[in-house]
Amino acid sequence: MIKVNSHYGKLQASYLFSDISKRVTSFQKANPDKAIIKLGIGDVTEPLPEACVEAFHRGVDDMSREESFRGYGPEQGYDFLREAIAKNDFQDRNAPVDADEIFISDGAKCDTGNIQEIFGHDIVIAVPDPVYPVYVDTNVMAGRTGRWEDGRYQGLVYLDSTEENGFVPAPPAKPADLIYLCFPNNPTGATATREQLTAWVEYARANNALILFDAAYEAFIRDPDLPRSIFEIPGAREVALEFRSFSKTAGFTGTRCAFTVVPKECRAFDESGRPVPVHPLWNRRHSTKFNGVSYPVQRAAEAVYSRDGKEQVKALIDYYMGNARIIRESMEALGYTCTGGENSPYIWIKGNRDSWEFFDLLLNRAAVVVTPGSGFGKCGEGYIRISAFNNREKVKQAMERIRQALT
Ligand code: PLP
Repeated sequence: MIKVNSHYGKLQASYLFSDISKRVTSFQKANPDKAIIKLGIGDVTEPLPEACVEAFHRGVDDMSREESFRGYGPEQGYDFLREAIAKNDFQDRNAPVDADEIFISDGAKCDTGNIQEIFGHDIVIAVPDPVYPVYVDTNVMAGRTGRWEDGRYQGLVYLDSTEENGFVPAPPAKPADLIYLCFPNNPTGATATREQLTAWVEYARANNALILFDAAYEAFIRDPDLPRSIFEIPGAREVALEFRSFSKTAGFTGTRCAFTVVPKECRAFDESGRPVPVHPLWNRRHSTKFNGVSYPVQRAAEAVYSRDGKEQVKALIDYYMGNARIIRESMEALGYTCTGGENSPYIWIKGNRDSWEFFDLLLNRAAVVVTPGSGFGKCGEGYIRISAFNNREKVKQAMERIRQALT
């Protein structure tokens, strides 16, 4: 008899974005003349940087000629892209990473979701709350959690990210084996200092644990004192992997290109407690189940590191960060406590009321869509997330409408 994976039955249906869309649709039906402004989903709105578009075109042209045509590429990615990443994103910033430690993929979502399969089943997983939901759900699917009870899965160690700890949880008292960290954080926009990341690296070293560091939003960091990679922290190479993405950095959400860094020294352990390098495991998994990102897309990603590409990407990030400043200042002027928006594209706002109640109020009175914080975890209750990914005029209009609605 064919049986299903019963762990899927534990998954909580993700009502968040479907609930949002139901409420938005019914509001629009009742108010057909109102132009809704969406600051909810974290998707980019601005086109690809010109340097990427040109390189993308050239890549397609290469595919049209016999002498430059490419078939299957290396599963780990082309050297031209891996080398550009290693130099620009890491070596130039005092984070020692070599090109052959970089695995190109079609998304940090897939990588953060797939990585868990190279680790044992009987490990303790620690996840921040609130957090990007992929980390939790993929471990539920793999059977590493118990049932859903009182808003949480049994068996997971939740790292509460609250106003009290500045939304940066300290290492837990209980030992955890696999720890997910995400800075700048989605949804809170919080960032971790060098000292805070050092504490995590020391915890991982002391407990034979491993950190999965999601740096999908590192390009939004403005403060030069904040680490942009966990590999800026001494000792991290043995105990951490890092996920990056071109999605938010260079507008690749629809183009798809990302990468995972697995240092050669990074280790997990076998049944007898002997260290096992993680690099060959991920290499095996990646080359068995993944067949590479398309050549033109990798050429487009490489262009992010060209002189023009760097300038254009900076301008793109500046644009969204200009939106973030407008959102944060407007909400603070209305008396709300905000986190994020200074080194991240998300602004996390303490609503002083239920998350959905605040969502409904902004939708019904201002025709502005935000994301209720409770959708990202129990600790998100009472908060909303506003995303800076939108057109400047729309952001200004949305904030003016919110001002009128709340005063
Ligand atoms: N990691 C975090 C924290 C994210 O917020 C997102 C997307 O919103 C991703 C990863 C996924 O990125 P990608 O588009 O590369 O799959």
